Amino acid sequence: MSKITINELGKLQVPSNPTIPFIEGDGVGGEITPAMQQIVNAAVQKAYHGEKVIQWKEVLAGEKAYKTTDNWLPNETISAFEDYLVGIKGPLTTPIGGGIRSLNVALRQTLDLYVCLRPVRWFQGVSSPIKEPQKVDMHIFRENTEDIYAGIEWEAGTKEANKFYSFIKEEMNVDSVRFPESSAFGVKPVSKEGSKRLIRAACKYALEHNLPTVTLVHKGNIMKFTEGGFKKWGYELIEKEFAQELKDGKLVVNDCIADAFLQNTLLKPQDYSVIATLNLNGDYISDQLAAMVGGIGIAPGGNINYNTGHALFEATHGTAPDIAGENTVNPCSIILSANLMLDYMGWSKAAKLIVDALEYHFKKGYATHDLARFMPNGKSLSTSDFTEKIVQYIKTR
Ligand code: NAD
Repeated sequence: MSKITINELGKLQVPSNPTIPFIEGDGVGGEITPAMQQIVNAAVQKAYHGEKVIQWKEVLAGEKAYKTTDNWLPNETISAFEDYLVGIKGPLTTPIGGGIRSLNVALRQTLDLYVCLRPVRWFQGVSSPIKEPQKVDMHIFRENTEDIYAGIEWEAGTKEANKFYSFIKEEMNVDSVRFPESSAFGVKPVSKEGSKRLIRAACKYALEHNLPTVTLVHKGNIMKFTEGGFKKWGYELIEKEFAQELKDGKLVVNDCIADAFLQNTLLKPQDYSVIATLNLNGDYISDQLAAMVGGIGIAPGGNINYNTGHALFEATHGTAPDIAGENTVNPCSIILSANLMLDYMGWSKAAKLIVDALEYHFKKGYATHDLARFMPNGKSLSTSDFTEKIVQYIKTR
């Protein structure tokens, strides 16, 4: 089994037959993950004529893992992603009650996947709620390890909440809590180190992909030290580490307050390209932008640590239990995530074949029901028929 590694310069070393661990996923995972693998295999074969091939290695998580090992996230699964660096996953059911809060969060934290990368573009033919969706082409870099997602909060009325309030009142002279007796409290850690590594990754990505701007999105007008710190440290880093690129005009950086940004993306989406933002802002922004180009069935994502090389690409939607087993689910989220993965591995020729195939079919109105029903010339296909069409198209290129 060949492993992807990273060299001392931080460059990924990809053998011609890398082992890629994958989690099939719960619910619709059993339909979308094999569809994605068929399409990726066809594209890799077409692009490299057998000189490159992916060795898929199934690892367990979620319900499938729980049923067979009594564990929602077995250690072997985490070890596989640690060892093989790059992997992909279908959606996972969030276990209810006790134990792990979210399998996705557990994987991101264990592997320190500090970037959540969400590229958002429109495909001609796909229905959109905005007038000019062709102007949407953004790449969101959402910080994935800090902010209020660190999970530091205390329920109202508990001993801990009272203790926390006493501390900020007595030791820190805070007297602005309106209803202290019935307040819950949360802590929002945002660090210089965490902000800088995220913004550095966004700038490098913009340069590598020839993208016109990087926008730092924040609420620094209100949260001066956390969100304001993110912006300040971002500009510091850019002036220090990207001085030449700034001077040459290769890198253009600006910033925007998060609420104005959400409005602007609807009014003038063409003004934005790479977005670097904190965890909570990134959550809202990702969903709004995905809705602008066709919704969750088509939004890809990757969680990446550019320093260690670890990356886990994923379907961004959930397990869709209401349609699981019906052969109607849209497999495009995980297919486009695999596309991101191929691009990350440097296998861009295969990635392009997949995007071309999707572009061609959407333009002609071929899609699964969730998209086809809103297309003027929509032709609803089952998951397997859609997959087969894409595979055949790639084979005949
Ligand atoms: P969901 O994304 O599974 O479904 C929301 C709605 O969108 C449903 O009507 C569903 O049928 C539809 N939908 C989702 N993906 C689709 C696709 N690819 N094609 C067509 N329609 C699609 O969200 P939910 O119902 O809130 O969550 C269900 C389960 O998934 C929960 O256990 C939740 O915790 C989990 N979840 C997992 C992830 C993940 O693993 N990344 C993300 C979100 C939710």
